[in-house]
Amino acid sequence: MGNTIISVKDLRKSYGKFEAVKGISFDVYEGEIFGLLGPNGAGKSTTLEIIETLRDKTSGQILVDGLDLDKSPDKIKKIIGVQLQTSGFYPGLNLLELIELFSGLYNVKTNAMDLLEMVNLKEKARNKYKEMSGGQKQRFSIATTLINQPRIIFLDEPTTGLDPQARRNLWDLIKSIREKGTTVIITTHYMDEAEQLCDRVAIMDEGKIIALQSPDRLIDDLVESGFERPKVTKSANLEDVFIHLTGKDFRED
Ligand code: ADP
Ligand code: MG
Repeated sequence: MGNTIISVKDLRKSYGKFEAVKGISFDVYEGEIFGLLGPNGAGKSTTLEIIETLRDKTSGQILVDGLDLDKSPDKIKKIIGVQLQTSGFYPGLNLLELIELFSGLYNVKTNAMDLLEMVNLKEKARNKYKEMSGGQKQRFSIATTLINQPRIIFLDEPTTGLDPQARRNLWDLIKSIREKGTTVIITTHYMDEAEQLCDRVAIMDEGKIIALQSPDRLIDDLVESGFERPKVTKSANLEDVFIHLTGKDFRED
C-alpha cells in the first residue's frame, strides 16, 4: 500500500453538549479504497465532512496530502472531490451544461464528454438531470467529483437505494476510478459492498472507531474467536437468485 494521504489524529466533534465524534484516529493510504462503516448516527458523515473542509471540528489534527486542514483548507479543496448533494443540481439543465457549470465554478477546463463516457452516460449528455434514473443520477454525481481531477474522492452512501444491477455497475465505476490512482473514501450500509470494494474498513459506533482492518482480516479474526454462523449457509443467496434471473445488464440506459 502507498503512503499515508490522510492522517486523522484524535478528532472530536461536538454539537452543543452532544459529542458525535469522540477522539478518533486513522490513516488512509494513497490509492486505496477506504470504507467507513457503522450504524446510522455513528458519526461517519460528520467525519467525512470535516475532512472535506465543509464542517468545523471541535479538536484534533488532520493532514491531507501533508497539508494541515487548519492552515491550508483551500489547498486541500483543490485536491479532493466531494459528491455534492444531488438536490443541489439544477434539474432543468442537461448533463453537459451541468459539467460546464461546475468546471466554471472550479475554474478548470474539463472534457465533459470524456467524463460522461467514463461513467457511461455519453448517450445521455443532452438529457436533463431530472430525467435520469436513480443509478444514472448517482453515476453523474460521481462524475462531478472528478471534474477537478482530484487525488482523493469522498463518496457518502453512493449506492443507497439502488437496485442490485445499478449497485454492481457503480462498484465497477468506483474500481475503475481507483485503478487510475485516485484514493477513494466511501461510506456504505451494505457489507457485501464493503467486502467487494474496500481494501480496509474502519467500523465506527457512537463516535468511536471500534475496528480497522481489511475485510478479510476482520472476518478471519471473528472466525478465529470461535464465532460460527447459526445456520449452515447455502452456497447462494436471494441476491444471487435475483441477479441470475434478471441478469447483470444495466437497465436504465
Ligand atoms: P452517520 O453519518 O454515521 O449516520 P452523522 O455524522 O450524520 O452520522 O451524525 C452523527 C451524530 O451527530 C448523530 O447523532 C446526529 O444526529 C448528530 N448530528 C449530525 N449533524 C448534526 C448537526 N448539524 N447538529 C446536531 N447534531 C448533529
Ligand atoms: Mg451519514
